[in-house]
This record gives sequence, structure tokens and C-alpha cells, in this order.
Amino acid sequence: MLAFTHDRWTFPLPATNRFPQEKYRLVRERVERLPGVEVAEAAPISWEDAARVHDAEWVRRIRHGLLTRREEAALGLPWSPELAERTLHATGSTVAATEAALRDGTAAALGGGTHHAARAVGRGYCLVNDVAVALDRARAGGFSGRVLVLDLDVHQGDGNADLLGPDPAVAVVSVHGERNYPFERVPGDIDVDVPDRTGDAGYLAILDDVLRRLDALGPFDLAYLLAGADPWEGDRLGRLALTETGLEERDRRAIGWTRERGIPLVVTLSGGYGEPIATTADIHARTVSLAV
Ligand SMILES: [Zn+2]
Repeated sequence: MLAFTHDRWTFPLPATNRFPQEKYRLVRERVERLPGVEVAEAAPISWEDAARVHDAEWVRRIRHGLLTRREEAALGLPWSPELAERTLHATGSTVAATEAALRDGTAAALGGGTHHAARAVGRGYCLVNDVAVALDRARAGGFSGRVLVLDLDVHQGDGNADLLGPDPAVAVVSVHGERNYPFERVPGDIDVDVPDRTGDAGYLAILDDVLRRLDALGPFDLAYLLAGADPWEGDRLGRLALTETGLEERDRRAIGWTRERGIPLVVTLSGGYGEPIATTADIHARTVSLAV
């Protein structure tokens, strides 16, 4: 299985910003040790690729660093040329993983899942919506099937719903913390609020119920799993209480659901802000190992 990384492209962060940039290197180092996985670097997307799914003005402004202070605050990251460049590479990982999954059955992007990036605005660490761009590129290459976006990051996938919700060939499904960001939701096809402090058993029962409902939205020819590590009990942004074992079981069930149906699967990491961050990297690497 191919896993695409972009961890070499870093960007400057002030000491006060807690975005866990080192996570991407830690995940890549773990995934490199997994049997049956080949780690590769993808070509970056172009700004034109981004502008095919996003508002052209938004793309122009992130390209040239024209964000207002307020927009930068909503993004949670300071703009820099390096951040813009990294975004192209990160999105390229999901584009390449989509091509690989359609060819090989499964692939991973060791990043991505930038589900808060909406058509005309970025927020919550997400500038460009990787799944929307990757799907657009796949369609340009001849793909015309139905798509499932299964978003298990602890935050609701408002950007995915904004960009892909209106698309009749895409089902946007999000299972997320009830009282968590974003506080203004954009509804998708299925949205499930999980109460604060829900642990493994309660969460897995909710997930099983969601998986049972998915067949009514299919059949699917391609699936994206946004396997956020932030429902972990040690996550500082999560508000849920899943153990590492519970998250492993979550991924086994979600990946198993696609596998039983023979659906090509793209695994993306999405969020994960644990303390220590090494445990978050362990959780992400375990997700990838289950997809091999
Ligand atoms: Zn998240």
C-alpha cells in the first residue's frame, strides 16, 4: 500500500501556536516501519487545481498572503509562503492517494482530511479542502462513481458539507463531538453528535448504527476515511474519552465496512492534538496499519 507524506514541507510557527507540526514527521517515521507500506512523496497540486473547487478569490488570497487578521485567527495559523507551499504538497498527497486507491484498492495520505476548508473560506487549520480537490482531479481523470466521505474526526466536517454536500454523487457523513468546534454547523447527509466524555462502548455503538445507515446512501465506488485521532481521551481539543484500543476498534470497523463491500479506500489523518503528541502519532500509524 502506498502512503503519501509531505512532512518535509514545514512552516514557521510562533512558540505560542500549538499546532502540532511535528506530528506529520512522527507519523511518517512510524508508517515507514510498517510491513506492506511504501511511503512516497506526491507532486504538489497547482493553485489552478485549488481554484477549480474553491472560490478563486479565496485561492488568490491564500496564494499571495492577503488574509485579514481576522481570517488568520479563524485559520489558527499565521500565513507564510512556506504555509502556502505546504498546502499544495499536503493536498497533493490526497490527490495521489486517491489515484493509488482507485488502482490498488487502498492508499493513505499522511495528512489531509482538511474538512473545515469551505468553498470561499478556510478555518480550523484548513486552507484547502483536500478531499474536494482530489475528487475533482479523479473526475478529470475519468472517475464517475459514487463517493462516501466518512468523517470520524471529533470536529464536524463543515467544509466538506459546504463543498460536497450539494453533490448528488457524494455522501458526506460526520460523527463528531456535540459541544465541539465548529459551533456553526453546515449539515451533511448524516451528522451525529456524540456527547462529551463518551467512551469506547458508547462511541462504538453509535458508529455501528451509522455504518448500518450507510448502505441506504450507496453503493459507493470510492470512500474517504477522515480518521481523526482527536476523539482520544488525551486529546486537548477532543472532549471525548476514547482509549487507544477504542480508536483502533473504530478504525477496524470503519475500514472493514469498506473492505467487505470492495470499495476503494483513501485514508486521511485529519486532526489529532494529544498530549503527548507521540501517542497521537501512534494512533494515526495504527489506522494506517489496519488499512494495509
Ligand atoms: Zn478535529
